[in-house]
Amino acid sequence: MADLLSVDHALEQILESFQPLAAETIDITLALGRVLAQDIQSSINLPPFANSSMDGYALRAEDIAGASRESPVTLRVTMDIPAGKTPEGYIEAAQAARIMTGAPLPDGADAIIPVEQTDSQWTAGGDASLPAEVKIYKAVKSGDYVRPMGEDIQAGQIVLRAGTILRSQDLGVLAALGETRVPVIRQPRVVIISTGDELVDVNEPLTSGKIRDVNAHTIAGLVSTYGGIPIRLPIARDTMDEVRALFQKALDEKPDIIISSAGVSVGAFDVVRTILDELGKVNFWRVNIRPGKPLAFGQVGNVPFFGLPGNPVSAMVTFDVFARPALLKMSRRPDTLNTTKAITTEAIQSDGRRSYLRVKLERENGQLIAHLTGTQSSGALMSMVLADGLMIVPEDITAVPAGTELSVRLLRDLET
Ligand code: AMP
Ligand code: MG
Repeated sequence: MADLLSVDHALEQILESFQPLAAETIDITLALGRVLAQDIQSSINLPPFANSSMDGYALRAEDIAGASRESPVTLRVTMDIPAGKTPEGYIEAAQAARIMTGAPLPDGADAIIPVEQTDSQWTAGGDASLPAEVKIYKAVKSGDYVRPMGEDIQAGQIVLRAGTILRSQDLGVLAALGETRVPVIRQPRVVIISTGDELVDVNEPLTSGKIRDVNAHTIAGLVSTYGGIPIRLPIARDTMDEVRALFQKALDEKPDIIISSAGVSVGAFDVVRTILDELGKVNFWRVNIRPGKPLAFGQVGNVPFFGLPGNPVSAMVTFDVFARPALLKMSRRPDTLNTTKAITTEAIQSDGRRSYLRVKLERENGQLIAHLTGTQSSGALMSMVLADGLMIVPEDITAVPAGTELSVRLLRDLET
């Protein structure tokens, strides 16, 4: 297939046109799943003060060195420290403060004895009166049940690195540090356009010769899945004026990427191509891939542009192979492509292009077995709906016997 551009070479050229986007600052409540744009350094210690890890009594460990059930040590209770209160006063020898989990350790004390090791009995919502004395049944070491200041995080420490995809626990640390505004990589704005006299919108009736616009919805879903913001424009008819107006509208959205589908295959692209020549610099490639050989890539205005093939499966596969890595690079997201190996149950004929076959996967005797999902026509929506993955027949292979192991690009998580 010497006249076809290799998949890897096409992707390489595409990725050269993309750079990570700049940062924006957003509210912490919106930051889940976003990509952190800067290292986050803590300006405080966490915990900010030494505090108790148990409900009990704060005391001096040396005062109860010999305490046991048989010979308890009695201390005078001089303070009560609920969580959220600052202790007022000092723990002297033979004194103790009743203290709740998370409450600050009072000066003078160096350890906590849990309430279970004393003669105190607290019940939730019960008698809260402070006893005059407490009997301690067990010795503790200095520092026991105390969470020291800065045990978790030290002031000045880097707690999160730029590039982190923010998870719940990361939001927790940001909240603890008081970071209400979070610097994240801006999400790519992706304008999606469909052209074709045969297309009607999803809410329009199907009149003779028409089909509904599928690609706008599959591509919008894929853009969202990979962290972009899809912006959909109305369908344009196959006329110079409508297609030109559509691309102008696309540029008006100030997008980071424009993705169109259809109009890039030989014979079909005259209108789209003429407009693209007017408005930008676009290469029309024939890529060594199936489905999806015709692919346009370049710039419209100075916005990176993908012209995906019109057939729905071709559009989804070429998005996955070419547009997804570009979107991820722009978003500074790592490419965590999910692949596995599976054994084909059917013999497969291929035409020497790198082929992405839609397969259903099954576990059998600890192995993954792949079955084709019916017709592999590049327009067959059900081939994608039923697919657990895309089984890849490498380039230059024309016959794959049944029982061969091939790579599969997973399209969903597999049950264990
Ligand atoms: P084209 O590249 O314009 O020759 O289109 C190839 C095939 O894809 C044709 O059968 C079109 O009807 C179909 N097609 C084009 N655009 C869409 C779309 N947005 N949704 C569903 N099918 C489409
Ligand atoms: Mg068309």
